[in-house]
Amino acid sequence: MASIFELIIAGDIPADIVYRDEEVVAFRDIKPVAPVHVLIVPTKPIPTTDDVSDADLPLIGRMYAVARDIARSEGIADDGYRLVMNCRDHGGQEVAHLHLHLIGGRRLGPMVGGEAAD
Ligand code: AMP
Repeated sequence: MASIFELIIAGDIPADIVYRDEEVVAFRDIKPVAPVHVLIVPTKPIPTTDDVSDADLPLIGRMYAVARDIARSEGIADDGYRLVMNCRDHGGQEVAHLHLHLIGGRRLGPMVGGEAAD
């Protein structure tokens, strides 16, 4: 079954898309945790970081370059921001389609805070 992000990439469900090319799509998170919260995803349906192959490494680099450029265009590059990629259950990954969170626009707290409920 296609993940929700595959449906967004295909245009089958709406999203606030901020960047798109053949390999990478970026859209605003539906539940932002900061003034800027954008998800950068590969169009290739790689489920998790553990599924990334060495052949995918240029694609991963492109995701980071797209995040860098969006941070600049959103005006948060000088103050700084956070890039996060969660992996599977303990990492808190909810959507099994690789995605890089670009979060910024305010001072962010500690990277890991509190205990997750099991
Ligand atoms: P993660 O927990 O790392 O898998 O992050 C998944 C993110 O996807 C969460 O921050 C959700 O708010 C976000 N999300 C889920 N569904 C949508 C959607 N339809 N459009 C935009 N963001 C979404």
